[in-house]
Amino acid sequence: MYSIIGLTGGIASGKSTASAYIREKGYPVLDADHFSRKATAKGGPSFDGIIKAFGKDILDEDGEIDRKKLGSIIFNDKEKRQELNDLVHPKIRRMMNEERDRLIEKGHVFLDIPLLFENGLDSQCDITLTVYADKVIQKKRLIERNELTESDAESRISSQMPLSKKRDLSDVTLDNNGSREELYNQIDAFLSRLEK
Ligand code: ADP
Repeated sequence: MYSIIGLTGGIASGKSTASAYIREKGYPVLDADHFSRKATAKGGPSFDGIIKAFGKDILDEDGEIDRKKLGSIIFNDKEKRQELNDLVHPKIRRMMNEERDRLIEKGHVFLDIPLLFENGLDSQCDITLTVYADKVIQKKRLIERNELTESDAESRISSQMPLSKKRDLSDVTLDNNGSREELYNQIDAFLSRLEK
């Protein structure tokens, strides 16, 4: 029996670093953001519905949805945000599920989902995995990666579900307070337990 493993984290906690390493080790990692871009691209299953709901002003010069424009519309409007989610989430789920069902025949499958717990998708996973870092470290890495001020980084972090809560909800924690090497060692240990 192969397992579906849900991988999550908080902003700049190291989820991408972990998922890149897991891929390097030969495991498929399905990325929710990738499917979101696919669903909303021209010709994708959510495209027409979004244009109908939000108008052609959100298109860029190539006729693709300008994610920044759309983001600024939904940022402060709960109803519009919900409307967009309703147009996109079912399509993302369908595409991801199809890919997952195809791959699980052949081996373990990782799902990289930022909002794994927030959207209740942990119930569809056999094992949940959170990449965790203490807030000071998370904030320092976020500031460096995104060139943010301390207060911008602070507000991005505090707009999310506390990472300590995700850690407590998950079956396994990857502690990313140390070096990348230490993170990779924990992943190696997890993968060898998985293959037992
Ligand atoms: P996420 O995908 O969770 O937002 P990333 O994997 O992009 O986070 O990591 C955030 C930033 O911190 C990146 O610039 C990454 O290179 C860096 N980083 C990740 N893990 C470590 C680590 N153990 N030590 C030092 N820097 C790290």
